[in-house]
Amino acid sequence: MAGGEFDLIRRWFAQLGATRNDVAIGVGDDAALLRVPIGHDLVVTADTMVAGVHFPLDTAPEDIGHKLLAVNLSDLAAMGAAPAWVTLALTLPEHDEAWLRAFSAGFHALAIEHDVALVGGDTTRGPLTLTVQAHGLVPAGSVMTRACARPGDLIYLTGTVGDAGLALLALQDELRLPKADRAAVLARLNRPTPRVAAGQALRGIASAAIDVSDGVAADLGHILERSGVGATVYAERLPISAVMGKWLDAAGGWALPLSAGDDYELLVTIPESRQAAAEAAMAVLDCAFTWIGMIDSAPGLRCQLDDGTQLGVTGGYDHFGS
Ligand code: ADP
Ligand code: MG
Repeated sequence: MAGGEFDLIRRWFAQLGATRNDVAIGVGDDAALLRVPIGHDLVVTADTMVAGVHFPLDTAPEDIGHKLLAVNLSDLAAMGAAPAWVTLALTLPEHDEAWLRAFSAGFHALAIEHDVALVGGDTTRGPLTLTVQAHGLVPAGSVMTRACARPGDLIYLTGTVGDAGLALLALQDELRLPKADRAAVLARLNRPTPRVAAGQALRGIASAAIDVSDGVAADLGHILERSGVGATVYAERLPISAVMGKWLDAAGGWALPLSAGDDYELLVTIPESRQAAAEAAMAVLDCAFTWIGMIDSAPGLRCQLDDGTQLGVTGGYDHFGS
């Protein structure tokens, strides 16, 4: 980026997030130098958000800063990792002080909450595109993956699902919500809560885990494929918010919380022998933890209502789908 690039970096990104003593070199050199504690594995993920694709062009910059970090922390949570360091690659259409201030504030607040340090990045000019690469730590050999769900395991969800999907319907004018309801679900869409503590609490207990970015059905599908198993989900067991409950019928019924994305809850599978341990580990956190179905050996995903009716499920959003 032209002239003010270094000023911009120094002003807005040199001191963002937490200060950690495992950062030997942070922003300002050619690269960062980070100390992975002995006995730990490094977990790395990256997520990009493109204006007009991942968020509407008029999204508040503070929300963009929050969500960009949140979606990355959510991936670390799904692996059971403790977040540590992030890099930030920013492509900006212009040098807009007000935008940078608000974006940095949203990013910083969540970074502080999770003791995350911004240790480097890149700044360029172009259509608004933002990438975070996040690094987390797990005790060596203890990472949680999508691959080890077994028939008989119980399927659980953190929090509630469907609110972000409801917000999208409201944004697309497909559903007219009263002001308070609209604000509540927009907050879920724009400021998701990464389930960082839940991910670490369930590490060593869950047999598989994934974060729900594309929808319960689609993301559970990834676990089934990687683990070589099938599942039955009882749609009416899905945990939903009071607002979602109020608008469930208008929004098309249980298919919405089953298939809508962007909620960033954790979906985990728990061996029956560890069910009590999982519930105890989650009971001390301020986060709902709800049984929604069973892993079985028949390939595929069956979603059913309590009266036995099967629900057709559609997949998540595919950027390269036709
Ligand atoms: P180089 O040309 O050597 O890649 P840059 O000018 O891109 O260096 O970056 C200078 C320093 O600022 C580096 O430490 C880089 O990691 C950091 N940096 C650049 N952009 C950002 C950003 N958006 N957020 C955090 N750090 C950044
Ligand atoms: Mg660079």
